[in-house]
Amino acid sequence: MGVKIISLKLSTDFSNDILRKKIAKELRIRDFSFQIENKSLDARNKANIHWLLSVVVHSDEITGGEYSKTEILTIPYRKRNKSAMVIGNGPAGFFCAFVLQKAGFEVTMIDRGSEVDKRGNSIELFESTGNFDPNGNYAFGEGGAGAFSDGKLTSRSKHISKEKQFILSTYIEAGAPKEIAYMNHPHLGTDNLKLIVKNLRNSFIESGGTMMFENMLIDIIEANGKITEVITTKGVYTPDVLFIASGHSAYETYRMLIKRGVQFRTKNFALGCRMEHQQDVINIAQWGRARLPGVKAAEYRLTSPADGIHQVYSFCMCPGGIVVPATAYADTNIVNGMSYYKRDGHFANAACVAGIHPDSLVGKQVSPSEALDLVEDLERHFFRLTNSFVAPSCTISDFIAGKLRSKQLQTSYPLGIEAVPLWKLLPANVSSSLRSGLTDFSKKMSGFDTGVLIGLESKTSSPIQVLRDEYGCCTGFSNLFIIGEGSGYAGGIVSSAADGVRAGMGFILKD
Ligand SMILES: Cc1cc2nc3c(=O)[nH]c(=O)nc-3n(C[C@H](O)[C@H](O)[C@H](O)COP(=O)(O)OP(=O)(O)OC[C@H]3O[C@@H](n4cnc5c(N)ncnc54)[C@H](O)[C@@H]3O)c2cc1C
Repeated sequence: MGVKIISLKLSTDFSNDILRKKIAKELRIRDFSFQIENKSLDARNKANIHWLLSVVVHSDEITGGEYSKTEILTIPYRKRNKSAMVIGNGPAGFFCAFVLQKAGFEVTMIDRGSEVDKRGNSIELFESTGNFDPNGNYAFGEGGAGAFSDGKLTSRSKHISKEKQFILSTYIEAGAPKEIAYMNHPHLGTDNLKLIVKNLRNSFIESGGTMMFENMLIDIIEANGKITEVITTKGVYTPDVLFIASGHSAYETYRMLIKRGVQFRTKNFALGCRMEHQQDVINIAQWGRARLPGVKAAEYRLTSPADGIHQVYSFCMCPGGIVVPATAYADTNIVNGMSYYKRDGHFANAACVAGIHPDSLVGKQVSPSEALDLVEDLERHFFRLTNSFVAPSCTISDFIAGKLRSKQLQTSYPLGIEAVPLWKLLPANVSSSLRSGLTDFSKKMSGFDTGVLIGLESKTSSPIQVLRDEYGCCTGFSNLFIIGEGSGYAGGIVSSAADGVRAGMGFILKD
């Protein structure tokens, strides 16, 4: 049997039947099997928007050819009689635990938050009453920050193709749509994620793993660079190795680690707001029309050198999604975005942030704990303005003009908004860069200035990064790994999960 990889252009609403006919015609064959390797939307020419497909075709009517799939992650199994503990059930923690379990370790995973259904109920209650649950919110609980999200699986990290392939195939086995294996911009939606997270938990437990919820890491005891005890709200554990994947919202965990001698440095991160538009405005800007059969909702990615000091960019775009109250604490107010698999809501949102170093926020060198204080203080400042989770907001055009003119704003945010001069709430240099960036975006995308800016977006990346060796182990420690977004080496579902896989593999190879 021969194999051929072909590129095809197809209308946006093509069917499987049309695809088969197109392959048959292109290769002049009748009997074949195929799989899509890549599918991306080409919208460069609005009069001719189409899907671009790369398809692998196998047939006896083809001679020769070769097709080698991406290298597969191989996890060496043996009975190890060693215990590993993983803190945090987000993508980094789960995938690290999963890999360690497959390698033969006895793995215990804990999370300070509740299991995903209970967490879903807490979030529903929060959004209808404003009653915040510290164990069940957009940041904390089973599945981590990624569970109640848009579930975008894109990643800007390079050199993680093996890990990414492993992560996506694990998601597919747990119920994700198969298309995530080939879509150029794959996404799951929060509805799929809730189911996937539960299936992953069941498979982990069925394979002998221990998973506990509402159990929070509060301290670690160390002797000569070795963690000897792990103290949590439900007990004291003595694992052979400890992986902490607590995400970058867990301020008290970071502070405990700094106090216990784990070394961090400050790094660039990003601050800004969520921006929201009517989805039709984005569709018309990107496609020249409000609907495109066969495509859910238009996306965008914008970048601007802004004022030449801090780059401004869009991040984590959620087409057809909603803006959500993403705080992890009862006295801070931040927002983020999520969507369902169908992406069929009326609004489109994305972060609009300026990249900045913590030192630039105060004009002097700050320590890692001071960097955390700066961000947390800003999140509290946004809360104190309304003393609630009502989100401060203003229109993009008012932000650019520096004048609060519009007070009746329409958004998807569930807990209400209050029109305020947002540019005065953000650090002055962030506001100034954002103003230049927004002005630039208004020139680049028609209808952009009809949008609204909401609340504080402070969680696109961590302002600090842990020091670690080439195996991912914390500098100065022999059995402590800090992984995922909270480590400062990853951001987003796939890169955090990949960091978890790599840390697990790093330890396995050392063992
Ligand atoms: C609303 C929202 C939407 C998002 N949308 C996307 C998206 O579409 N695509 C994308 O790539 N990224 C998205 N992100 C970002 C993404 O979710 C994170 O980058 C990713 O989840 C980080 O993974 P992690 O495992 O490192 O940490 P997290 O997912 O943050 O998980 C950390 C876990 O640790 C637990 N924990 C914290 N402290 C402790 C402790 N002391 N003891 C025990 N447990 C603890 C928490 O409860 C949490 O479950 C979104 C984030 C949010 C909030």
